[in-house]
Amino acid sequence: MTIRWIGQSGYLIRTENAEILLDPYLSDAVNRVANRPRLVDAPLSPSEISADAVICTHDHLDHLDVDAAAEMSRNTRFITTGEGRKTLMDMGFSHVDVLTEGDLVTIGDLKLTAVYAKHTVEAFGVILQVEGKTLYFSGDTLFDERLYQIREFHPDVTFLCINGKLGNMNVDEAVAVAQGIGAPRNIPNHYGMFASNTEDPRRFTDRVSGGFIMEFNREYDVSEICG
Ligand SMILES: [Zn+2]
Repeated sequence: MTIRWIGQSGYLIRTENAEILLDPYLSDAVNRVANRPRLVDAPLSPSEISADAVICTHDHLDHLDVDAAAEMSRNTRFITTGEGRKTLMDMGFSHVDVLTEGDLVTIGDLKLTAVYAKHTVEAFGVILQVEGKTLYFSGDTLFDERLYQIREFHPDVTFLCINGKLGNMNVDEAVAVAQGIGAPRNIPNHYGMFASNTEDPRRFTDRVSGGFIMEFNREYDVSEICG
């Protein structure tokens, strides 16, 4: 399995027989709508996406990017919330699955479980189980002690939002969640995309066990991440 951080909360994950995109933000839609230009170039062209599924953990532009979706094949399979499904159906996508907390879906050899998240809109976090590894992606979430329950999945790696704005945990809260879950490896995300909503990832990685900063747009083998 390989994992590439494509900015913000976005990842491209390839396994033996599946490819998924998680929360890809590939346009400048947030600048169009809210005057926040992206700080890094989009590493993928939406028209070239051929992933088996695109997972959007909630219906906000930096996770469900309508400007990028407009350029994607209408055969693209999306997995998102009920609100996200409506947005995508209105754009002409028909292959849209809805997940709520506790739902499980398989994509090739990947097992994806939607888990608790507390955001400003309907949202879920993601547990991915594949090739003997368990990965947890918080998506956008505020702090809540319920996030500690993720430890029951025994994740090898967590990917946690740290920006502390607009409905997300700050560094102190993300550190508490990392400690509460107890994964050996903890990776920050949701920074470096917008000047007005970013954070220094070292403030997180310096304080958690196995803190790891992924280089933007570099493909890692999972063994490099898990150590
Ligand atoms: Zn976000």
